Amino acid sequence: MAFDSLTEKLQNVFRNLRSKGRLTEDDVKAALREVKMALLEADVNFKVVKGFIKDVQERAVGQDVMNGLNPGQMVIKIVNEELVKLMGSETTEIKLQPGSAMTVIMMAGLQGAGKTTTTAKLAGKFKLKGKKPLLVACDVYRPAAIKQLQINGEKQGVEVFSMGDKNRPADIAKAAIQHAAKNGNNIVILDTAGRLHIDEDMMAELQEIKEAVEVHQTILVVDAMTGQDAVNVAGTFNDKIGIDGVIVTKLDGDTRGGAALSIKAVTGRPILYVGMGEKLSDLEQFYPDRMASRILGMGDVLTLIEKAGAELDEDKAIKMADKMKKAQFDFDDYLDSMEQMRKMGGLSSIMSMMPGLGGLGGKGKMPDLDSEENEKKMARMEAMIHSMTPEERRNPDLLNPSRKHRIARGAGVDIAEVNRMVKQFNESRKMMKKLPGMMGGKGGKRGRF
Ligand code: GDP
Repeated sequence: MAFDSLTEKLQNVFRNLRSKGRLTEDDVKAALREVKMALLEADVNFKVVKGFIKDVQERAVGQDVMNGLNPGQMVIKIVNEELVKLMGSETTEIKLQPGSAMTVIMMAGLQGAGKTTTTAKLAGKFKLKGKKPLLVACDVYRPAAIKQLQINGEKQGVEVFSMGDKNRPADIAKAAIQHAAKNGNNIVILDTAGRLHIDEDMMAELQEIKEAVEVHQTILVVDAMTGQDAVNVAGTFNDKIGIDGVIVTKLDGDTRGGAALSIKAVTGRPILYVGMGEKLSDLEQFYPDRMASRILGMGDVLTLIEKAGAELDEDKAIKMADKMKKAQFDFDDYLDSMEQMRKMGGLSSIMSMMPGLGGLGGKGKMPDLDSEENEKKMARMEAMIHSMTPEERRNPDLLNPSRKHRIARGAGVDIAEVNRMVKQFNESRKMMKKLPGMMGGKGGKRGRF
């Protein structure tokens, strides 16, 4: 998977930072030097890395550490935010013509980038949205490309328009649009011919198509495996014919992934989708925020922290996330967290955002976490905790049998229930310790992304 090595390196840097507690300016600078190396090794564009490190450094040094976050976490937070910004912040949709008007999309890219495959993948996405796409074989140099488009179109249940290899691409495009108008197609996707390298003929041909028909969106397909070449190709295409967005393919491969991090910053054009495999379903919408948290190996923990921040008292939320992370939960936190969890949409909603735990609810291991019965159980738990002394709440290890009997009497429950609750509490603490990937462990890659 792309970014694996970058993720591992960044996690090492952050682990070191977190272990330090208080950070000096030199600590931050040293850490950022390592981040810089890691990004360069991931084949991120040099200028992009330089600007990125400068931005992070400016923000990290001189910024007050937020309550509840330690300085190491503050740096991670800033790196995450800057990564999101680097990739364009917002998710960009392909702009379609309003109403039922026909949208013409021209696909461009070098040979082998994955253009023909991606064209068919995209048609499938549009079909799912209720559109009626028409694929057009404009690659007249590679007879195999026409056949490939036809086969893939058939698999997707989408019509393919072809005039063989004896006509000019611009004429094929014109005829295809007439056909689409008659046929009720509201999206026309032109699969154009690539070349091994950028060359004048290819650009002239694309230009000719643009002059012959009204192209609403020009989408460039680049191969992540080609690293910085992909970024250069994107820059050239944008200068010569103008592109509206980029699709980066083969991010599933063993690539360093730097292209995905550099394209927006270098060309100003957003990444629309990423190709994650050879199957026609392997095309994913590009979310800069999810990609950043995936690169940092954090699953959706950041979403969780954000959600907590939006709906709760920020200090409390961050403190809670921090405590969960360190597994330093005591009964007071338990009480506090029950209240907060309610506000955040219940335990199951939180579980679904934890890296590695996302599927638990769905698999029936933790069914129906927010049921009425659970509500009652939580209320009894609260009663039991309220029957503890402040010392017992802070130090759960104090709970011996005689203390448990006293608590049971105070809460009006039987001793078995107190035992169950203490056991459950200890188990959740153990589970929190094991939470894969929480700001550190490797399992985070299996998060919800
Ligand atoms: P074109 O010359 O640009 O039209 O490229 P093709 O669509 O023929 O793709 C070239 C090769 O890349 C084919 O073997 C595809 O199956 C493969 N390919 C395309 N997209 C992806 C992707 O996202 N991941 C992987 N692993 N392979 C891809």
